[in-house]
Amino acid sequence: MNHNDSQLTHLHRPASRRLHRRPAHPVVTSSAVRSSVAEHAPSVVAGLPKAMIREAGMFELLAAELRIAELEKELAEAREAASTDPLTGALNRRGFEQACQRELALARRSGLSFALAHLDIDDFKNLNDTLGHQVGDKALLHLVNLLRKSMRPSDVLCRFGGEEFVLMLPATSQEEAVKAISRFLRECSANFIPGTDRALTFSAGVVVQDLSESLEQAIQRADEATYAAKRSGKNRVVTG
Ligand code: GH3
Ligand code: MG
Ligand code: MG
Repeated sequence: MNHNDSQLTHLHRPASRRLHRRPAHPVVTSSAVRSSVAEHAPSVVAGLPKAMIREAGMFELLAAELRIAELEKELAEAREAASTDPLTGALNRRGFEQACQRELALARRSGLSFALAHLDIDDFKNLNDTLGHQVGDKALLHLVNLLRKSMRPSDVLCRFGGEEFVLMLPATSQEEAVKAISRFLRECSANFIPGTDRALTFSAGVVVQDLSESLEQAIQRADEATYAAKRSGKNRVVTG
């Protein structure tokens, strides 16, 4: 392109992009109209078309509604972040406690109690030490994914800490819970952690929540049963 061409192009360009994009009618908000009332004689406002004032009010309402929807979404996200474990997406202790307290209140009314299973992955430190922490993280997610597939929709899963999980099974007897967790243990040992040739096993303690005890007491009993499972050789389910 020679110099003359470039001058031509320049001359034909609109003077200002901003001016070029200016809407046909200026946007008037109702607050602008109100400050105009304060600033000028009421007779000036009286001269504004009514439709314009109405339209400005509608815009303001729409903007407020959009902002409320945004804030509600942010609040829901913050609530979820406060009650879930970021690595696995399972509930954290706080979220689990809330879910269980609701279930406990229901159980006290219906008399139908729930089962609690405490799971502790076997030899997880060894897995980290031999394959690395990242594979350890993947293994935790793998366990949660497998669990989710075999859980009932009403079951509630919590990452209780490190490589320990607690599962709450509503309206479930001890026998049914032991069956479900044993089936899950078989599934775990039959599925390799992605990208490895190793599978996980865990030891578990299963109890039924006694309606007169606290949630902490029931989890404590499940934890003790898990400890008994560890002592008697791991890779098994023990009742408490
Ligand atoms: P046991 O069979 O007796 O349960 O032995 P263990 O090795 O599973 O238990 P131990 O308590 O000795 O070790 C647990 C390990 O879990 C140690 C810790 O570094 C690891 N761990 C805890 N949280 C995480 C995590 O978020 N990611 C990874 N990769 N490792 C974790
Ligand atoms: Mg542990
Ligand atoms: Mg362990």
